[in-house]
Amino acid sequence: MVPLAARRALLAAALGSAGRRRLPRHHAPAAASRPASSTGGRAEAEGPSRDTAMLRHLLLKLRATGPVTVAEYMREALTNPGQGYYTRRGGIGESGDFVTSPEISQVFGELIGIWYISEWIATGKPKAFQLVELGPGRGTLTDDILRVFNQLASLLSKCDVSIHLVEVSPKLSETQALMLTGGKVQSNPEDKSAYMKGISKTGIPIFWYRDIQDVPPGYSFYLAHEFFDALPIHKFQRTEKGWREVLVDIDPEVPDQLRFVLSPSSTPATENFIQPEERRDHVEVCPEAGVIIQRLACRIEKDGGAALVADYGHDGTKTDTFRGFRNHKLHDVLSAPGTADLTADVDFSYLRKMTQGRTATLGPIKQREFLKNMGIDLRLQVLLQNSCDSATHQQLLHSYDMLMNPEKMGDCFNFFALLPHHRLEHPDKKRKPESKSALPPVAGFGELLVQ
Ligand code: SAH
Repeated sequence: MVPLAARRALLAAALGSAGRRRLPRHHAPAAASRPASSTGGRAEAEGPSRDTAMLRHLLLKLRATGPVTVAEYMREALTNPGQGYYTRRGGIGESGDFVTSPEISQVFGELIGIWYISEWIATGKPKAFQLVELGPGRGTLTDDILRVFNQLASLLSKCDVSIHLVEVSPKLSETQALMLTGGKVQSNPEDKSAYMKGISKTGIPIFWYRDIQDVPPGYSFYLAHEFFDALPIHKFQRTEKGWREVLVDIDPEVPDQLRFVLSPSSTPATENFIQPEERRDHVEVCPEAGVIIQRLACRIEKDGGAALVADYGHDGTKTDTFRGFRNHKLHDVLSAPGTADLTADVDFSYLRKMTQGRTATLGPIKQREFLKNMGIDLRLQVLLQNSCDSATHQQLLHSYDMLMNPEKMGDCFNFFALLPHHRLEHPDKKRKPESKSALPPVAGFGELLVQ
């Protein structure tokens, strides 16, 4: 933890009595956050029609090729370029299907902005950094972080800051462009690997990419909030005959309906993804998350920086967490694909393993602990002192409760970080163990969580 006095000073400089973003904020209904408990996602589909263009596309495909993996089903349902959920709907926020922490409270993004500044200071204030957000949703989190950077403009005056957003959804990238630049963007800029570029309201260049590999190398801070849970998972079931992969097929009893089946024998995925020492009977693995974490770890090892991952998840203990959300309610994952968000808990033990020791990792630590360590209580006090009406007061307390209450988002969301080894281990540690104390601690995380 950053010493309280130092964090108080940074918080005061960054936030002071300054800026609320949009007031009044709407109250997010308690059911709006995606609950962590596993339901298997077999809730009833609601809405006028279960028959969607995506369903028809999948039925044709399944008739032609036979069952597909859950990963393939999820990829189609979420990011198919024509009919995918994020491509067409991307319903984040109260009028959508689910609400996320940055949408609930501006304080969330502000404290994350401070985390990056505190890491930037701890590593000697490099002359430039890129902030790279994976899956930025509506752009709210980056917007809140940019407000903190703007408050700290004098501290950052000699630092060349740029923003890099990795987003596959054309619809959401438009929303982000509107939020961050007022809509003044250039598509397919010739000089860059980006598909779009613009300038933030505070004068910082912003670039959009479809893949992390397109982001230029360089000292970077990475951010993935509720990103890894949207990536496709494979599901496996232990049977008497060994591990079998869960597949999606057409239900022979009900026309135009999908159902889960088990692969008749092992699949390449069962061979590659199940560890011999596995004790659970049902396992979900997200290889795409593994590949992306590997890329982040390689980039941090080579060019420096840090990554902050925040998501709901577990440390290799949970089983069936695949579920769907539509209009803030659980939704049958196989019903009306393309109209609901599909998600699975993030396995942080798998992410840690996939760094292959290239970086140090911290966490996962519960959201309420991380935010408390980052000074959320101080920030709440300042906002309460500066709010003049009781509706704003209520709203501030309500959003604090949503983020921090262990029964809401406080316990089920976790923070996990990747840092260069030298950030946590002094090079001459072996000779002088006491020299470790000279390294500034990492804000938000207790030192005991170092892995
Ligand atoms: N971080 C935001 C949004 C979370 S929703 C928030 O917390 O509010 C997931 C986001 O990831 C969306 O922006 C979605 O379009 C994006 N996304 C999903 N799959 C992706 C992929 N494979 N590559 C890049 N972005 C992806």
